[in-house]
Amino acid sequence: MAELGIGIVGAAGRMGLALARAVAEAQGCAVAAASERPGHDAIGSDIGALAGLGDIGVAIGDDPGSLFAAAGAVLDFTAPKASAHHAKLAADSGTILVVGTTGLEAEEQAAIEAAAKSVAIVQAPNFSVGVNLAMALTEQIARLLDEDFDIEVVEMHHHHKVDAPSGTALGLGRAAARGRGVDLDGVAERGRDGITGARKRGAIGFASLRGGDVVGEHTVMFAGAGERIEITHKAGGREIFARGAVRAALWARDKPAGLYSMADVLGFNA
Ligand code: NAD
Repeated sequence: MAELGIGIVGAAGRMGLALARAVAEAQGCAVAAASERPGHDAIGSDIGALAGLGDIGVAIGDDPGSLFAAAGAVLDFTAPKASAHHAKLAADSGTILVVGTTGLEAEEQAAIEAAAKSVAIVQAPNFSVGVNLAMALTEQIARLLDEDFDIEVVEMHHHHKVDAPSGTALGLGRAAARGRGVDLDGVAERGRDGITGARKRGAIGFASLRGGDVVGEHTVMFAGAGERIEITHKAGGREIFARGAVRAALWARDKPAGLYSMADVLGFNA
């Protein structure tokens, strides 16, 4: 197959730079274009140089329209509004889109789903193999246990993170809800504070810790009378997400329009 030209939006961000390194490491693809929000200091810089790879001849621009035209697939780990806009550009240009941005409002998520009617989009709250395995195990355990086991999802991230609970925590919560055959929105308990009353039977609770440079840690607890099962994932570096996103872009090359998950990419839904 011909080499896949990859566009990176939000190229100077923490994930943007990790994505540039992951594309450089992977076989069968190369960075074709990079962009940042207008006014960003990195505009005009070579993305390879910023990512510690040396110059690769791709300057960071500020026009996502021309980035989508120049790329076969675009990796988007930016911000919710930007990702909704990028989804429209992906649909208009027929470019594969991999979305890792978290914290999307319903309207922004609807824009992704609408775009996926005309192009292949892979969206995941977490692109690591380990977390996707943890999600599959969480769903299975939740299916086997009844509501005598209280489900709580605890996460910790670095102090720059702007949304809570993390997209991954919500993804783990959704997996638990699927296993139980319920809708997460109907049972989620988020942000407890003060006199909250006793825990509701069947609730799925979330707690978020923020501090230091923690890349991402998640635990799903199934707390019963006298025993507790915990599934924990600890991310050691952002490269696990970046590698997964590149794998998703390569996987999506021959896929029809649709909204795919990392579980689809990894074959966990087969
Ligand atoms: P970051 O703030 O370091 O980077 C985001 C970048 O996007 C910034 O450089 C910003 O300037 C840029 N940006 C914002 N609006 C833009 C626009 N309109 N056009 C182009 N660029 C724009 O943040 P980060 O830590 O890299 O995380 C980015 C997102 O990815 C967050 O939502 C985070 O939760 C998510 N994330 C997801 C995964 C996953 O596996 N799905 C893993 C890590 C982070």
